[in-house]
Amino acid sequence: MVADAEGRYGLGMMMLPPVDEMYEALLARDRTYDGLFVVAVKTTSIFCRPTCPARKPKQANVEFFSTARDALHAGYRACKRCQPMDDAGAPPRWVQSLFDAIEQDPQSRRTDADLRTMDIDPARARRFFKQRYGMTFQAYQRARRMGQALSELRTGAPVTQTSLRNGYESESGFREAFTRLFGDTPMQSSALHCMQARWIDTPLGAMLAIANSNGVCLLEFVDRRMIERQIAILRRRFKCTIVPGPNAHLESIKAEMDSYFAGSLQLFQTPLVLDGTPFQQNVWERLLQIPHGETLSYSQLADDIGRAGAQRAVGRANGDNRLGIVVPCHRVVRSDGTLCGYGGGMWRKKWLLEHETSHAAAVS
Ligand SMILES: [Zn+2]
Repeated sequence: MVADAEGRYGLGMMMLPPVDEMYEALLARDRTYDGLFVVAVKTTSIFCRPTCPARKPKQANVEFFSTARDALHAGYRACKRCQPMDDAGAPPRWVQSLFDAIEQDPQSRRTDADLRTMDIDPARARRFFKQRYGMTFQAYQRARRMGQALSELRTGAPVTQTSLRNGYESESGFREAFTRLFGDTPMQSSALHCMQARWIDTPLGAMLAIANSNGVCLLEFVDRRMIERQIAILRRRFKCTIVPGPNAHLESIKAEMDSYFAGSLQLFQTPLVLDGTPFQQNVWERLLQIPHGETLSYSQLADDIGRAGAQRAVGRANGDNRLGIVVPCHRVVRSDGTLCGYGGGMWRKKWLLEHETSHAAAVS
């Protein structure tokens, strides 16, 4: 796994071996695959190394991820036996006690004060998680929390069976997870809902899509720190609840995303709901006009919307974009052409631009 300076995993996730090959490796407990992928078991919500002695699940029940982080975001927790979070053997006891505490109640956030009551120095925890797992302790907690709440969206199935089938300790635990993220329980919502959500797997990690009857309102990587805030903003603005469920715009954007990543789509047609301040709307509308395979500088963008010199405000509006990839804020670069900040992580921005350049000529 390659992590960049921000501790985000790099393009390793593009290089998963074929599924059949991984499943064979799993059955053979082939050590040469250790570190190449982790395997998650849907029936238990646990993920393992390929070599884990604990289980030999049916192929229909497994899914593969290139990093532990991806498995966490998909709602799985690490196997205690094979310790798939760790390349260097079992973690120290104090770290294991932290993991245990989180698993007892994955939905609550542990603060520095909580760590101190466990006799753990918060600074040490931060350093350890960053160095060993490439993410902060807060990011780990977030991944578990989000993963649990969001994993329901992968199926869109009725709450009652799936929460139990997915290994939530109780249905109420799942409801709580969902409530904290979306502000309403799925059951209550179904009566008065006005937005639907679904999960979209992409080669760059899982994304969450939310739409109403007018179009897609949010499309964002689930590991993005901003996402919880973006969901809260959305709920406030539209004064409604969000539920997993069918929505034609979600099906459409899912299909278009698949084609985009396959290199066969350059222009998204799914209706979008751009809802922001007039300035934000101007920036986002201009972003939509940047052709696939091309980039624009912040200062040029500011000029184009009649706000010369407002690069910083443009940058902020870019960061507030709730529709990742389809409103292509990744196509904005510095005046000298170099890359700079991207909410989803620099490595994703780089990947997207390279992907678009390499497919720019292929489709008319
Ligand atoms: Zn295991």
